[in-house]
This record gives sequence, C-alpha cells and structure tokens, in this order.
Amino acid sequence: MGVTAQQFEQMKADFRASFGTEFDFLRDKGIYDTPLYKFLERMPKGSDLHAHADAILPIELQVEFLLDHPELLITPEWQIRYIGPGAPYGSRTMKECLGEGLTVEDFRRHWTVAGAPEGGYLWDWFEGIFTKCGAICTTPALVQDYYTRVMLYYHSIGVEHLELRSPFFGSREDAIARAEAYVRALKAVRETDPAFTLTVVACGGKNDVWDPLFDQLMDNAVWVASHVHDGRSELVRAIDIVNDEDRSYSLARYEERVRRIIAENPPLRLTLHAGESLRGENEEIAIALRCDIDRLGHGFNLYRYPALEQEVLERGICMEICPVSNAALGYCRDFSKHPAAEYMKRGIPIVICSDDAAYQAYSVLTGDYLAVTVGWDLTLEQVRGLCRNSIEYAFLGPARKKALMNWWENAWEQTLNK
Ligand SMILES: [Zn+2]
Repeated sequence: MGVTAQQFEQMKADFRASFGTEFDFLRDKGIYDTPLYKFLERMPKGSDLHAHADAILPIELQVEFLLDHPELLITPEWQIRYIGPGAPYGSRTMKECLGEGLTVEDFRRHWTVAGAPEGGYLWDWFEGIFTKCGAICTTPALVQDYYTRVMLYYHSIGVEHLELRSPFFGSREDAIARAEAYVRALKAVRETDPAFTLTVVACGGKNDVWDPLFDQLMDNAVWVASHVHDGRSELVRAIDIVNDEDRSYSLARYEERVRRIIAENPPLRLTLHAGESLRGENEEIAIALRCDIDRLGHGFNLYRYPALEQEVLERGICMEICPVSNAALGYCRDFSKHPAAEYMKRGIPIVICSDDAAYQAYSVLTGDYLAVTVGWDLTLEQVRGLCRNSIEYAFLGPARKKALMNWWENAWEQTLNK
C-alpha cells in the first residue's frame, strides 16, 4: 500500500501529538507501534554508513544469537566469554540463563544505556557494555554468523548497503581472518539478496587504552584493504578514529599518521569522528578538515564554529548524523533541537546513520529516521532526499553506486506509490 505526502503528514502529526519531539528509544516502547514508525521501517532506505562492530543486533536478537552459540558463556558480571580459554565460576550459557529465570529484559538492562546508573558518566557505562559484549565475535565463525544476521536484518528494513566501522585487532593474520569472515557472511546474505553490499571502515582508537595499538590497527587496516576482496570490490575502503572525544586524546595526536596513511594508500577514503562532545570547544573538527576528510562522523558541534561550518558547506562534505545515539549518550534529548536540522537547511549534505543501535534502541536505523522526521518536521520528499544521500555519499565505486541507486529508486516507487 502506497503512502501519499498528505498521509505522511498525518502520521507525523499523530506521532507528535502522542510523543512530542523528545522521546526515548529504550523506554517509550509505544513509538514502535505507531503507523509512522511502521512506515519508516519498511521504507527503502539505501545505506547505513555509520554502524559500529559488534554493536548492531538488537538485544533480543543478540540473546537469540547467544542461544545458538553455547561456546559463548555469560559470567556473573554479565560479561560474554568465549569458552575456549575457560570462563570464571558461575558462568552460564544463554540457555541456562533463560532456563534459570533471566529474561531478555534483564539483558537489555545490562547491555544497553537504559541500565546506566543515574548521575554517572554515561560513556563509562556505554564503554562498559562494549567490554561486557566485546567477546561476542571472538572467532571467525562467530563473526560470520553475527554479520549474516546483521545484513539479513538490514535487508529486511530496506537497507541494501552497510558501511561497517570495524577495528582489526591482533596480528595481520587475525585481521585477514576477521575480514574473510565478513566476506563469507556477505556471500551467505547474497543467497537471499544478490545485490547486497558491505564495505568496512577500518578503525583505530584514540583513548588511552587503545593508543599503543593505534599503529597496529592502522597497519592491519591497510593490509586488509590491499588483500581482501569480496569478489566484486575491496572490502576496506576507508579509515576512521573513534572513542569518546571528551576523555580521549585529541585527533592532533594522530594527524600526521593519518595524513601519511591516506597519502600512501590512494584508494583509501577518510571519515573521522569529530565534534561529538559535551565540552564543546576543541579543535577536533578543524583537525578533521585539515586531514581532508571525505565525510565527517557526527560533527554535532559544528554550529559552534561558523567558519568551519561554511567550509564544510563549500567543500560539500557529508555529515554522518546519528540522532538516536546522540540522544542515548546525552548530547541532545529533544530531537527538534538537534543542530543538524540547521546544517541540512543550509545545504550541507547529511546522511542518517545508526552508530551503536544494539546498545541504544530496540531496532536499527528506523528510529534514526523517525527522530529526524518528527524532530525536524521533514516532508516525505526531504526524507527521500536523505535516503538518496546515503547512496550518493557511500564509499562505493561508480558502477556499484549506480546499481544501488537504480535498485533504490525502483524499491521506493514500489513501496511508496503502489
Ligand atoms: Zn560512531
């Protein structure tokens, strides 16, 4: 059944009447039953250009994944452990946990920001979830199964291309093993959806724990970029540097190295997390621009620097906006006040992305479109433009981009106008 512009406006008005423009994706479960949410869920979206490994599968699907993998145990501290090296006393499989009375909601409390203690520093809890769930893809076989599920999920919500932020830890061999597991997952997904594409943005970290690893992560990124192919194109097409901006080292620490890596590996593109900060005033966006980024990760605080905003506009740099994440991590609770609404109005290209959906919502990406549709009062045509941007600004070769655009135009026509 199609949807007219007028019906879209009505769904939006009804949603605003019930929930306003400030809602919580883990607490206000009613939003998922609204006609507007349901419509946005089935709407063909194109790509998700900013999603972090391994924080994608919603918690009920993560629980299901663990049920199917008894080689993963859960410690009494809610930490996932791979059984290989052994696990602490009291660790249980997911089947045992559920059999002994734990529920999906218990896991949701411990594995999402909903469980963060009042008054604490949210990022501590948030990074703690990565520590708790970090072993979920310990082996290549687990990576393959996890990402097969991830990509089939995306396929089910009208996303045909995923750009996954992934660090490649360990030796070069470990890095290749993980990358090849991504490719096997992609091949499995292509049995259902032959057109699906996956590219990886290989990440380094800028916090104190990861810093000594930075060079190794970047070496692995370059190594995988030149050695792993999905049969149609290179798997790794860009790099990024991640972590909480307010408590990590500045990008300044990595600027020289990043510029050198990009200069020495010409096909590699660059997108950097910058301007995702509560403190506000810092140099991160300016440094990212100096590094000649192709896209800007978040850029939330760009409004604080009018000259840089003008530069982003003039250079046509695309901003990866993740509204659900921004709300979950406390940067902006009321979506009508999200600064990217103004960036979009000024003509800066914007894409809507999910960031760390597993730990921040009940679903992936649909909520991000909901947040901006309602918060920025977007027309159906404007939402369509955002979907189109997600293809236009993807790190894909021209032929693949054209094919994806054709698929999406056709899917949009099918879903919206019939
Ligand atoms: Zn991110």
